[in-house]
Amino acid sequence: MNPMTLYMVIPCYNEEAVLPETARCLREKFAALTESGQISADSRITFVNDGSQDHTWALIRQLCTDEPDLFCGIALSRNAGHQAAVLAGLMTVCERCDAAITMDADLQDDPDTIDRMIAAYYEGNQVVYGVRSSRKTDSPFKRRTAEGFYRIMQLMGTEIVYNHADFRLMSRRVIEELRGFPECNLFLRGMIPLIGFQSTTVTYERRERFAGESKYPLSKMLHFAADGITSFSVRPLKIITNLGFVMVAVSIVMFVWAVIVKIAGLSVQGWSSTLCSIWFIGGIQTLCLGIIGEYIGKIYAEVKHRPRYIIAEFLHDGEE
Ligand code: UDP
Ligand code: MG
Repeated sequence: MNPMTLYMVIPCYNEEAVLPETARCLREKFAALTESGQISADSRITFVNDGSQDHTWALIRQLCTDEPDLFCGIALSRNAGHQAAVLAGLMTVCERCDAAITMDADLQDDPDTIDRMIAAYYEGNQVVYGVRSSRKTDSPFKRRTAEGFYRIMQLMGTEIVYNHADFRLMSRRVIEELRGFPECNLFLRGMIPLIGFQSTTVTYERRERFAGESKYPLSKMLHFAADGITSFSVRPLKIITNLGFVMVAVSIVMFVWAVIVKIAGLSVQGWSSTLCSIWFIGGIQTLCLGIIGEYIGKIYAEVKHRPRYIIAEFLHDGEE
C-alpha cells in the first residue's frame, strides 16, 4: 500500500512568537513520518494566515520559499476567524491530500498525537478526533467555562465530542462532504459529527501555549459558544415558547386570585385589573416572541449566502 499524502492545516493569527518553533516541530515530525513510510513525500504543512497584523505572513512566506516541498501558505484577505481559517485551509488542500489534520499553531495540541491519528486512519477511520485527557494547563476559569460549555451544548441537543477542540484528522472524502455544508455560522466541531462515517478518538495531554497570548479572549469565547448553540439547536427558542405557556398559566392563576381578593373586598381600586393584565400581556408577548423566533431561527440559518472567507494568496510548491 502506498503511504498516504497528509496535509496539516494550521490557522495562524498573530503567531509570530510561536511559528518558528511550530515549523521546527512539524518539520521533525514530517521527516520521521516520511522516513518510516507512514506518509508520502508529497505531504505538506499548510499555514493559514488569518489576517494577522504582525509578521506571521512574512514568516510563512519565508518558510514556503526556503522549503517549498514541505511548507505551503494561504493568506486570507482579512481576519475571518479561527473556524473560517480552518475551513479555508481544508477546502484549499482537499484535492491534494488523502487526509488532513487541523491543529492550532501554538503547540498546545501535542504533535506526537499525529502518529496515533495516522494509525487510526490506516485502520479505516475517516475522522479521528483529538480529545484532551485533562485540562491541567488551563486556568481554573478557562477550564470551568469550557467544561460548562460542553455540558450546555449537550443539554441543547447538539452532538459534539466532549473535550474535543479542532485538533482532528479528516479523510479527503469527509472534507469533500464538508463542502455540502454552506452555513456561515461555522462551528466545525458540531458539523463534522453530522457528516458521519467511521470515526474514533485519540486522547492527548493539552499543554501550555508555547508562546504569545491566547487569541480567544472571553468575549470571543462567549460569541463562539453562542454560535455553537444557535447554529445547531432550536431548543433555546422552544424554551422561550414554553416560558410563554408557563406565564399564561400563571396569569390564569393570578386572575382567579385577583377575583377572589376583589370579591372578599380586600383589594385597592384598580389593583386587580393592573395585576392581571401585566401577567397576561407579558405571557402572550413572550409566547409570540418564541413562535416568531422559532421561524426566524430557521430562516436565519438558510438565507446568509455570504462567502465565509476570501483567499488572497496561496503559496504551493514555490508557486503563487
Ligand atoms: N486563530 C485564528 N484566527 C483568530 C483567532 C485565533 O486563526 O481570529 C488561531 C490561532 O492562531 C491559533 C488557534 O486559532 O492557532 C487557536 O487560538 P488560541 O490558541 O489563541 O485559542 P485558545 O487555545 O486560547 O482557546
Ligand atoms: Mg491555544
